[in-house]
Amino acid sequence: MPDTDLQQRKILVTGGAGYIGSHTSLALLEAGYEVVVLDSLVNASQEALRRVELLVGRSLTFIEGDVRDRNCLDRLFSKHDIHAVIHFAGLKAVAESVAEPLAYYDTNVNGSLTLCQAMQAAAIFRLVFSSSATVYGPDAPVPYREQMPRGWPASPYGASKAMVERVLEDLCAADSRWSVALLRYFNPIGAHESGLMGEDPRGIPNNLLPFIAQVAVGRRGRLGIFGSDYPTRDGTCERDYVHVMDLAEGHVKALEHLGSSGSYAYNLGTGQAVSVLAMVNTFQEVSGKEIPYDVSQRRQGDLAAFWADPTLAFDELGWQAQRNLDDMVRDTWRWQAANPHGYSAE
Ligand code: NAD
Ligand code: UDP
Repeated sequence: MPDTDLQQRKILVTGGAGYIGSHTSLALLEAGYEVVVLDSLVNASQEALRRVELLVGRSLTFIEGDVRDRNCLDRLFSKHDIHAVIHFAGLKAVAESVAEPLAYYDTNVNGSLTLCQAMQAAAIFRLVFSSSATVYGPDAPVPYREQMPRGWPASPYGASKAMVERVLEDLCAADSRWSVALLRYFNPIGAHESGLMGEDPRGIPNNLLPFIAQVAVGRRGRLGIFGSDYPTRDGTCERDYVHVMDLAEGHVKALEHLGSSGSYAYNLGTGQAVSVLAMVNTFQEVSGKEIPYDVSQRRQGDLAAFWADPTLAFDELGWQAQRNLDDMVRDTWRWQAANPHGYSAE
């Protein structure tokens, strides 16, 4: 049964219609919170939120708006008694960020600044921020640990995450009312186990799993594997893939842990590294579909291998990934097979 105390707590989820935000909104509702989503829908569909409501059997409040719009935020905070904010809204395509740095710094950095200014004016000081393993930078030793200094990420996308982390740390140092969790995600994949919600990228997927899933469902011909000459077990890059529902539950834990003054960084990963070829093989086994592929050149900026040391999130938040690679792949495939065109009906 949901805790009645929590039911009075409204959480603002910026970017809540997106991939991780929609799964987290579901986890919040299931934990008994009320949810207000602010999303511009620049990279999402409102259908994702309809499915959240369908699955949970409760409604949420949706506001279509931009996180850079201070008037919109002020209106939202004066209308809703917000307990804490989970800030997902942002742009996330690494290559696009290299081509359009201004758009990325504007949305990701300015958007976060505007949000914090509006929160401060409304006396809301609890924030969970979507950061990324990229903030460790290209030269960090593996596994990544929170105690390590931030590096200097190669892309404007990565730099925007590192900048916002620094802004939030400075804010916490200047004003002890702030309590901030910096959640550094590794590689989120998977989908809600119902098959009703999942990742629905626009255009050609940049990320490995959506690309493989679209090949499996017949929307794309062949996967391109970006390099097989890395110093890894099979020559392809290795990453720490984490199930999106594990991530969603990590946000609920981080939210519940907020309260102490200051900013706290946590890795959200499994601690296991999986190669591109191993992922292709697992997908073939789980789905029964062949994934034709070609090995092409390395993608600029890719690191050979990185993974998390997730100990701190376990020790301090009581969070640990519960789902394994087969679960991640099975749930991705269930979603993609049932929704070949994602949330659009075509
Ligand atoms: P997503 O694109 O699915 O979700 C982002 C959401 O933000 C979308 O719904 C989009 O419409 C919304 N949005 C974008 N700009 C906005 C603006 N100016 N105002 C209001 N809404 C806006 O991406 P995701 O994978 O769910 O990622 C969520 C967050 O997690 C992002 O900040 C991303 O950088 C971060 N992150 C993602 C990954 C990943 O691999 N998916 C890894 C590390 C960090
Ligand atoms: N990758 C690939 N082909 C693709 C997309 C990705 O070989 O079409 C590889 C990429 O080189 C990286 C891994 O898959 O080693 C994960 O890439 P993704 O873009 O999903 O995540 P990243 O770790 O780069 O954020």
